[in-house]
Amino acid sequence: MMDCSTSWRCRINGAASPARRAVFLDRDGTVNIEAGYIRDLADLKLMDGAADAIRRLREAGFLAILVTNQSGPARGYYPESWIWQLNNRLTSLLHDGGTTLDGVYYCPHLPDGSTQSYRKDCNCRKPETAMLQWAARDYGIDLTASYMVGDKATDVEVGQNAGTSAILLTSGYGEQVLAGTYQSLKLIPEHIAPDLAAAAEWILAQG
Ligand SMILES: [Mg+2]
Ligand SMILES: [Zn+2]
Repeated sequence: MMDCSTSWRCRINGAASPARRAVFLDRDGTVNIEAGYIRDLADLKLMDGAADAIRRLREAGFLAILVTNQSGPARGYYPESWIWQLNNRLTSLLHDGGTTLDGVYYCPHLPDGSTQSYRKDCNCRKPETAMLQWAARDYGIDLTASYMVGDKATDVEVGQNAGTSAILLTSGYGEQVLAGTYQSLKLIPEHIAPDLAAAAEWILAQG
């Protein structure tokens, strides 16, 4: 066994700190009730059991990291600062529920957006994987030991393309995804669960 306190090689490789595991969470239809483009803070409401699920995952050692496409600014619906107000409302509700998020990543872009500064064919809009890769770098996450949970086919794709296991929820748009009436499910999720609470149960049972 190499002594990492004296070896430059360990520090260069980052091998001295074991990789962490994360549960990446979509926002709308996963943590909060799907309500379209939210323009009133009061319309952002947690899914039943969401706070408890996140609390239990964090207690088990998982980082809880939100990864969300938020194209409202690109569509000219509201300024980017509104995304922060919504995220603050979300974390405040989670705090009331006894937990928090370890990180929040969002993509404000859209390839055919009406607002020029956000009109971009970016690599962060799910199912592109940049948000998960940034988080992996920022937090030292082993993506292959991590999970992506969301209600759209693109959530399954972003997770599996980044190397995580993917759980599709039938909350939010998930029921329509499974019925084939919203997006097409190109990849098969490792698991399908009715909501985040059930997804957390399943993740915790995997060990
Ligand atoms: Mg969603
Ligand atoms: Zn983006």
